[in-house]
Amino acid sequence: MNDFKSMDLFAPLQRALAEQNYQQPTPIQAQTIPAAIEGADILGCAQTGTGKTAAFALPILDYLGHEKPKTTPNRPTVLVLAPTRELAIQIGDSFRTYGKHMKFRQALVYGGVGQGKQVNELRRGVHVLIATPGRLQDLMDQGHVSLENVEIFVLDEADRMLDMGFLPALKKIIAKVPQQKQSLFFSATLPPKIRDLAARLLFNPISITVASKTPTVERIEQSVRYAKRGNKLASLTDILNGNDVDRAIVFTRTKHGANGLAKKLDRAGIAATAIHGNKTQNARQRALEAFRQKKVTVLVATDVAARGIDIDGITHVINFDMPVDPESYVHRIGRTGRAGSDGIAISFCTQDELDELRAIEKLIGTRIRVENPEMKFEVKQEPSKGKAKPRNANRSRRRKSNNSELRNGAQSTYRRRKKVQRSGKPGKTQRTATN
Ligand code: AMP
Repeated sequence: MNDFKSMDLFAPLQRALAEQNYQQPTPIQAQTIPAAIEGADILGCAQTGTGKTAAFALPILDYLGHEKPKTTPNRPTVLVLAPTRELAIQIGDSFRTYGKHMKFRQALVYGGVGQGKQVNELRRGVHVLIATPGRLQDLMDQGHVSLENVEIFVLDEADRMLDMGFLPALKKIIAKVPQQKQSLFFSATLPPKIRDLAARLLFNPISITVASKTPTVERIEQSVRYAKRGNKLASLTDILNGNDVDRAIVFTRTKHGANGLAKKLDRAGIAATAIHGNKTQNARQRALEAFRQKKVTVLVATDVAARGIDIDGITHVINFDMPVDPESYVHRIGRTGRAGSDGIAISFCTQDELDELRAIEKLIGTRIRVENPEMKFEVKQEPSKGKAKPRNANRSRRRKSNNSELRNGAQSTYRRRKKVQRSGKPGKTQRTATN
């Protein structure tokens, strides 16, 4: 299916897509949308930038448009869970954009801000609730939201939720969602814990993979610049002063580093602002807005804060510090080159960061071009003996999961039109999309 018209989407959605100038569905959309409209559970393995938000938002809005379910106070019809506030806000923006010609109500629920407004919105009744797990659990515990009317449940960026320690909250939330529901499950990677979670939640899912070698990352010109710690700033200002830089995100390892670097860039005459988890929600939104409106060219960010930032036209991603977790590299550079446009990703690598570089290359299955191979590090380049284990070595041991609470998804319901029988044995349909 390679155009939106043949998808038989609710007409007001088609109109909004035309206005957005979306001509063709991306591979994840082409496979997910028709199956989700028919009510199938979906296991989507796709990175950010592949168009996965529309892949779940469009079938949901299509359902709301056709079925016009009534809202009930405190009982949403659709629940979308996202790991971060920024991603939740972006998902909300996408629903609003695609659903601008239809009537539906949505609410956003996330931490770091007062709960009064969120509680009021829930009380009025919403079709779509977009939430981060922690705040949602809070509001559920206080009796402000019940999930018993949920018909469609979306889990977005499931792997990141586990990384952020949301598994206990997730289990509690999933246990409260009715068995008769449709679940759409998205994750950039499918490590065993995620497969386990998916297996317990999804019924006979259609499994869709946007092959990891093909996403937008391939269109990004990646390079490494060997550097000494003290030279990074000068090298960065050189890059940022280049004519080809329209909008850039610079990643640092720490919040403190992000603040300091943004100030130094500002002093060097490069308009920059920092975004990280220590900032209030309002300050983060202000920083994003300034960046979006090009009041600043450079956003200095940490990994968690940058998750889900979806701003078009980012020409450069610069890793001022190498990411500790190799998968973060893919997420970071995915901020540029989104949905078909090209981008440039440059990573500074000091001698101490060579291990991280190797881990990234192993993950992406290719060597990254070094801009200055002539630069030699003073001491040997092998990992030093003092470095007993990589900094992320504890990640895999972080949590012990008992997924028995999650087993409430044995059966879901098929919603509309082609009412497919759900009585067969759970199994899996494999599909692979390429970008
Ligand atoms: P996502 O992977 O959902 O974060 O989407 C990445 C970007 O792709 C967003 O800026 C979307 O607006 C854009 N996008 C999604 N679907 C399409 C499409 N079919 N055609 C053009 N752009 C799209």
